[in-house]
Amino acid sequence: MTKRIFRSIFLVALAVFIAGTALIMGALYSYFSGVYEEQIQEEASYLSTAVEEMGLDYLEGLESGSHRITWVGSDGTVLFDNAANEDAMENHADREEIQEAMNGGTGESERYSSTLSQRSYYYALALSDGSVLRVSGEQYTVLSLVVSIWYYILLVLVAALALSLFLASRVSKAIIRPINEIDLEHPEEGDTYEELAPLLGRIAAQNRQIRAQIDEMKTKQQEFATITENMNEGLLVIDQETEVLSYNNAALRLLGASKVEGSVFSLNRSEQFRHAVDQALHGQHSFDLMELSDRTYQLIANPVYEHGKVVGAVLLLLDVTEREERDKLRREFTANVSHELKTPLTSISGFAELMKNGMVKSEDIAHFAGNIYNEAQRLIVLVGDIIRLSQLDEGTTGLEKSQIDLAEITKAVVDRLHSAAEQRGITFDLQLESAMVQGNAQILDEMVYNLCDNAIKYNRDQGKVRVSVSPNAGHPKLVVSDTGIGIPYADQARVFERFYRVDKSHSKEIGGTGLGLSIVKHGAAYHDAKVELESVPGKSTTVQVLF
Ligand code: ADP
Repeated sequence: MTKRIFRSIFLVALAVFIAGTALIMGALYSYFSGVYEEQIQEEASYLSTAVEEMGLDYLEGLESGSHRITWVGSDGTVLFDNAANEDAMENHADREEIQEAMNGGTGESERYSSTLSQRSYYYALALSDGSVLRVSGEQYTVLSLVVSIWYYILLVLVAALALSLFLASRVSKAIIRPINEIDLEHPEEGDTYEELAPLLGRIAAQNRQIRAQIDEMKTKQQEFATITENMNEGLLVIDQETEVLSYNNAALRLLGASKVEGSVFSLNRSEQFRHAVDQALHGQHSFDLMELSDRTYQLIANPVYEHGKVVGAVLLLLDVTEREERDKLRREFTANVSHELKTPLTSISGFAELMKNGMVKSEDIAHFAGNIYNEAQRLIVLVGDIIRLSQLDEGTTGLEKSQIDLAEITKAVVDRLHSAAEQRGITFDLQLESAMVQGNAQILDEMVYNLCDNAIKYNRDQGKVRVSVSPNAGHPKLVVSDTGIGIPYADQARVFERFYRVDKSHSKEIGGTGLGLSIVKHGAAYHDAKVELESVPGKSTTVQVLF
């Protein structure tokens, strides 16, 4: 802009200088030409008066001056000429100024030299006798003037050029300065051209609008960041070239990455991940499970559309390991329950069928009925254990908690099991100190019962069961240890699983359901207690519950 203004001002200034110079020269020339012509006319009139009175003598007596004087007779013959021999001169009757004078009293004309460098001015006056007196003079033309003073003209031109450059530079800078000084952030504050006011007002309004939009976007971005950063689910937004546009920390955590660089495939290259991303970028919603370092993730991929075209995808990653494990356990549990229920029922049905068909001798009826009773009892215990476990699974809603003395509960359990222990010559060693637990009496009873029952069931004859309850400085502790068969090291971690039994047939034989330790584990969790098992195969088993 500065350059354009500079160029325009420079050209205008130069043109003005040149035109001004030319006009002044032209005006001066025409003025001086006028003055010169008046001089000649005055001289002609003065001479004519003298020639009227004194005739040729006066002219011949004149000293030669700067002007040429010619006297022409009424027939056009040259009577006198102060610059040439009149006898040798041709008839002047046809000269323009002479004819004009003869006709109208005065006449004038101008003629240019062949090189156009000289201009001759002729002025003729008619005398009373019909003759004509002519005075003429020569003058330089404008062209010859220009040629003769070209050096000065060049000098003036150079000066005009320099002055134009200087002025153009100064003026253009002066014009642009206020524009450059406009603070576009606060366009209405500065002092600048009035003509720019509407434009600056518009810029200010747009600035305000942009600022408001930026603020709004920032707020939205913050909201989005707050939401996504507090999500447990991993969120990834990618473009069509799989470049990651946005992500949250959960996504990095779940995919085990520390940063994102370029393509989303730098985070995970598994077949399932690639497949889900490809599908989403081809406009298809996908819902896949993905295994990653021992954990299971749900990968939800959705295409993102803009003007009906897929421009990217949103990937959502959920850690569903626990859910999947729970589902797996539930499936296993259902299968196990069905199996466990079916076995005693088949036995009962078989015994009953034999009796129904009269295939059992009357003396064996009591024995068969006893078998049916035992199997039914097993079923009752099993169903009871299943109900208890599902109660614990469901968070035991509806179960009341109160302050319960663990020692009292233990004492009651041991009393109930006394005869079973006695049958095998097993003795109890009790160390019971009152220890208050905030809990559910029924569940606590079952936990203690299962532990003590196991300590008898898996003991050797004449073995010992030691049961101790201590307040343990606010953390009540129950320890049940026996001198029994112990648990092989490989099985120790699994005996708390549902229906897990080290020796299935032995467990069944002695009335085990495989759910006892599961109930202990879940019951302990319900009471925020910790269960620890220590066992030396063939020697002893100790289970400790720390509340
Ligand atoms: P069960 O009803 O079969 O006793 P549990 O869940 O109570 O089921 O125990 C699971 C398995 O752990 C048992 O089958 C048994 O093999 C083993 N077990 C539990 N307690 C003891 C113990 N005190 N001594 C030896 N083995 C035990």
